[in-house]
Amino acid sequence: MPLSAGRPYMALPGPSMMPDRVLQAMHRPAPDIYAGELHDMVASLIPDLRAVARTSGHVAMYIANGHGVWEAALVNCVAPGEKVLVPTTGAFGHGWAEMARGIGAEVEIIEHGRKTPMDPERLRAALLADKGQRIKAVLAVHVDTSSSVRSDVAALRRVLDEVGHPALLMADCIASLGCDVFEMDAWGVDVMITGSQKGLMVPPGMGFVFFNDRAKAVRRAMSRVSCYWDWAPRAEPGMFSHYFGGTAPTHHLYGLRAALDMIHDEGMAAVWQRHARLARALWTAADCWASEGPFRLNVADPAHRSHAVTAAQVGAPLGDRLREWCRDEAGVTLGVGLRVNDPLDPTGAGYFRFGHMGHVNAHGILGLIGVVEAGLTALEIPHGAGGLAAAVADLARPD
Ligand SMILES: *Cc1c(COP(=O)(O)O)cnc(C)c1O
Repeated sequence: MPLSAGRPYMALPGPSMMPDRVLQAMHRPAPDIYAGELHDMVASLIPDLRAVARTSGHVAMYIANGHGVWEAALVNCVAPGEKVLVPTTGAFGHGWAEMARGIGAEVEIIEHGRKTPMDPERLRAALLADKGQRIKAVLAVHVDTSSSVRSDVAALRRVLDEVGHPALLMADCIASLGCDVFEMDAWGVDVMITGSQKGLMVPPGMGFVFFNDRAKAVRRAMSRVSCYWDWAPRAEPGMFSHYFGGTAPTHHLYGLRAALDMIHDEGMAAVWQRHARLARALWTAADCWASEGPFRLNVADPAHRSHAVTAAQVGAPLGDRLREWCRDEAGVTLGVGLRVNDPLDPTGAGYFRFGHMGHVNAHGILGLIGVVEAGLTALEIPHGAGGLAAAVADLARPD
């Protein structure tokens, strides 16, 4: 008999669960868009967004999902015929590369597969081979949500500096911002993009491009930038309508105000620590399950795993069956496996993903672990015993 009634739990790597405080902030009548409270509220978002991104740079807001800000970041800095370098660790790196091809850029990929982080030495070799320094930007996905690989973005900056290459360093933090440690200024990132619906806990529909003065100068030197995607009027609006190149996404903005208040009330260090602790509890359970049978996490080394999303596999078709069991019997929805490129599992039906980003806490993660363990047991998928108990012990440890 299904036990799935009650509040559903979305363990998706985006869109993530929305806090009641965010939903309640959005549940209100239409505001006056011409003057007053909305204008003040929107201005108040800017310093708080910067604080989450750890930058004193500029921010442009868009009514767009992650794909939109992929394009926004590119069109402000890369003209048709110019070249970008894309180290990839999963499907999202390839997705950004595809966007770059779409705007007419020449794309060089450094393929890293789906299980290991970017290798700064391979970046160095590619930059040294670029004799005329034609590469305009390096596009690095901090956490590739398909593989759950997290790469060391600061190490890429060190290599750019050591080689003396002027390319901009662009980071996709759509999955990682507000979950995994990220320091835009300290790590020397020139352009960073994120979306509203992952660590920021707001419904999908808004995207953000952060950029520093170096990137601003590159934008100024472009011969043209499409009006709608131009970040200049959005980051330095002469009037309120410039923020969004038209009507503001009023209710998303109220939700975002509430989400940023929650993040700042908790504190960035505490937010990062919470994600790290909860991810570790999940991995502790996963190590138990993996001690017998087919269950495996996608990334072997915990140092290269994201704290926001964890990709796992149990072999086709059990991944899909496990997801269905958790959803239909227990009210927990796991993320689907994404284009994993595994020759043994071409459909990806053996893979799935745990989302643990944003509005997550210990009781939610323990519920998630308990449900997956029940699903493994009910479906008679061989697995090591005691995952939930091990996670409980891990969370009970002072830290
Ligand atoms: C979710 C995600 C995207 C795509 O965002 P959409 O809002 O689905 O367009 C891109 N990159 C990363 C790393 C993501 O996690």
